[in-house]
Amino acid sequence: MTDTNQQPQLDCPQCGKTITWSEKYPERPFCSQRCRELDFGAWATESYYIPGEPTWVEEMEDDDMDENTRRYNG
Ligand SMILES: [Zn+2]
Repeated sequence: MTDTNQQPQLDCPQCGKTITWSEKYPERPFCSQRCRELDFGAWATESYYIPGEPTWVEEMEDDDMDENTRRYNG
């Protein structure tokens, strides 16, 4: 067993570069401070925004119509 010095490896979430989990990469899991700032910037902007949420205004209008229909149906 002479590989006790080997450090675990991981991929930088920003650029995908394989780095070593060691003091050599103080910004881990990012390979560099630049990648860490880029990732943070992406979160701050709308890059990670998940679209597809229905507009609640339309839903309310639908509800209103349902309410009227229900009233007519008894
Ligand atoms: Zn990177």
